[in-house]
Amino acid sequence: MGREPPSARETRFRENEVLRAVAEADAFRGPFGFQCECTRDCPELVMVDRVDVSAVRPNPERLVVRPGHPTEEARVVLRRDGYLIVELLR
Ligand SMILES: [Zn+2]
Repeated sequence: MGREPPSARETRFRENEVLRAVAEADAFRGPFGFQCECTRDCPELVMVDRVDVSAVRPNPERLVVRPGHPTEEARVVLRRDGYLIVELLR
């Protein structure tokens, strides 16, 4: 037969997607598009330089926002022309 049940195909497809995304991210020089993480329902895309992405991810306390956009109480970790990286104060 050689056919996989649909659920197995779907799982494999998802795994491939993840691997591909990782591979591309490694090869991709950036900048990377983040959705602005301010407290508004904000559709703005913020382009983050590759060198700064590791300052944001995988730390869940850190957000990327447009300068001047509101956040919860936070301190500024990095200030760039097009974006701020802030760390939430808890
Ligand atoms: Zn925003």
